[in-house]
Amino acid sequence: MTEQTPTPEALEYRTEVKQLLDILAHSLYTDREIFLRELISNASDALNRIQFELLTNQDVVDANAELAIHVAADEEAKTITITDRGIGMNRDELVQNLGTIAHSGAKNFMQNAASDQARLDEIIGQFGVGFYSAFMVAAEVTVTSRSYRLDEQAWRWSSQGDSQFTLAPAEKAERGTTIVIRLKDDAAEFANSWRLEQIIKKHSDYVSFPIYLKQSDGGEKVVNRQTALWRQGPAQVKPEEYEEFYKQLTFDSEPPLAHIHLVTDAPVNMRALLFVPTQRDRGLFQMNSDHGLRLYSRKILIQQRNRDLLPEYLRFVEGVVDSEDLPLNVSREMVQSNPVLRQLKRALSNRVFRELKTVAEQNEEKFATFWREFGVFVKEGVASDPANHEHLIELLRFHTTQAAGADEWVSLKQYAGRMDAEQKSIYYVLGDDLKSVARSPHLDYFRAHEIEVLYLTDPIDGFMTTMLREYEGKPLQNVDDAGLELPKAAAKEKAEDETKVSIEDFDRLLARFQTVLGERITSVRESKTLVNSPCRLVSPENSFDRDLQRIRRLTEQDYEIPKKLLEVNRAHPLVTNLAYMLANHTDETLIDAAIEQLFDNALLLEGIHPNPADMVERIQRLMEAAVGAK
Ligand code: ADP
Ligand code: MG
Repeated sequence: MTEQTPTPEALEYRTEVKQLLDILAHSLYTDREIFLRELISNASDALNRIQFELLTNQDVVDANAELAIHVAADEEAKTITITDRGIGMNRDELVQNLGTIAHSGAKNFMQNAASDQARLDEIIGQFGVGFYSAFMVAAEVTVTSRSYRLDEQAWRWSSQGDSQFTLAPAEKAERGTTIVIRLKDDAAEFANSWRLEQIIKKHSDYVSFPIYLKQSDGGEKVVNRQTALWRQGPAQVKPEEYEEFYKQLTFDSEPPLAHIHLVTDAPVNMRALLFVPTQRDRGLFQMNSDHGLRLYSRKILIQQRNRDLLPEYLRFVEGVVDSEDLPLNVSREMVQSNPVLRQLKRALSNRVFRELKTVAEQNEEKFATFWREFGVFVKEGVASDPANHEHLIELLRFHTTQAAGADEWVSLKQYAGRMDAEQKSIYYVLGDDLKSVARSPHLDYFRAHEIEVLYLTDPIDGFMTTMLREYEGKPLQNVDDAGLELPKAAAKEKAEDETKVSIEDFDRLLARFQTVLGERITSVRESKTLVNSPCRLVSPENSFDRDLQRIRRLTEQDYEIPKKLLEVNRAHPLVTNLAYMLANHTDETLIDAAIEQLFDNALLLEGIHPNPADMVERIQRLMEAAVGAK
């Protein structure tokens, strides 16, 4: 700085930045080296952006400069300097980008920081916290930047990681950004070019611009391989290279579950490298806001996260797509309506389906992992993409009455394979979770006859079944259907009849059910299927949206319990006793309370009870009666 330099102006950070800086300064995080990955990734982004700008606009500062990154360490001064010839920042951009939290990873990090102090150190590295991670190692960071725009001057931003930063005009002839990090004493080890080379190779090897590292003799050498791995032939790429590339692309610490390397020239030119991750929850990585594939055309990044290259429900897939058939001077907005994109999408989705099918066929254990992590996305696909049903349906897996263990999964093919000749339909039961669904009274009949029933307990399942009507000609049927045609004779009529109450007494009890429950049920009748349960609620035939009722209960404020038909088990001791009590006119208020409770129990088992706490008072009365307290 010279004497003429005006006094820098001091500005306060936004509150959330202060908090983040505070956490970083006190972090015990051991892999602090990731700060370099973050700064190089920003430099690479800035180069991508100027490269894209240059496609249509040559009127920029230094239009011919080499698109590269330069890194240098000064052991004596304990500094690291990172320079890029990227798009640069003007004063406003410096304030906006380096004074607030732009990085989505950092945003999530801050939202979760308060709730999970213990894991902070663990998560910092998992997805990076962007520019501010420099303050894990820096006593002071100085950013000097010159925007690509011709009419802008250079500015210097500087901060010691406390509550403020300073800004001042600066001298800088070249376009781009130079970041100088003055290291904290306990981070002096990083001011060493050998060490920096290791870090760059480990985290930034596949950055597509050359990274020049200053050598001890004063010269520079390129230290990253910068290969566009996806543009090589699959035969030339080693398995560990795929894995490294994936890790550098996603910051995932786990290797991917599967990779797909796609090279086609017709009908469209495409080089793509896609990955199915092993885990869905990668730190605070946000599935919903952060997905999309990197879209390149001739190695130039057109879009950071393109969401039109795969169906929405395959958003867990990560990777890179490069196509020479995309016009280079296309705007990011125009990309969406481009017909080539539709062809790319079809080819990519088909390849993903094929890969998943191969995993399913060849590696059951691996597929179980996939299903556990991403099964709901496949179900979402079945619910939303009829055009790809044939692929998706083969991937579906279920727990069933015969495979309820955590690791036991049944495909529709397996289910269909073990149906016996009399069984014409595939049966399923919907519920909130495995435990409650296993208790469903609807299963009495199916258990008695050893007929397998699919358990559907994901919220998405109701949507899925409205779209998934059959499998290989066999209709899917909800076991709560009033008109269900059952393959085998109803529960065998043995000497059982003796234990039942007389028809007259039973009919009187049914009438009483109807009077007590009134409008809340469509009707009441004797059950032909119940064995161990006193009663159940069945859906009137053709109530098309009943599979969605569980979801509506959660999403609609003025949710009304759907009216159903109540079936009563004439042979159940509870029912028998109630009928006797009614016939003998004993304690009729108790009978009514019991009827109410049986109805509530049935609602609970259906997962559609609007307010279970309301039952407590009545349960208490029934208990008092049972122990003779009153
Ligand atoms: P992210 O990279 O996720 O956006 P960062 O915290 O790493 O978040 O960076 C914040 C912002 O600062 C970037 O979005 C970018 O606009 C700007 N920025 C950081 N480094 C550079 C750079 N070297 N050149 C140009 N802009 C930069
Ligand atoms: Mg960044």
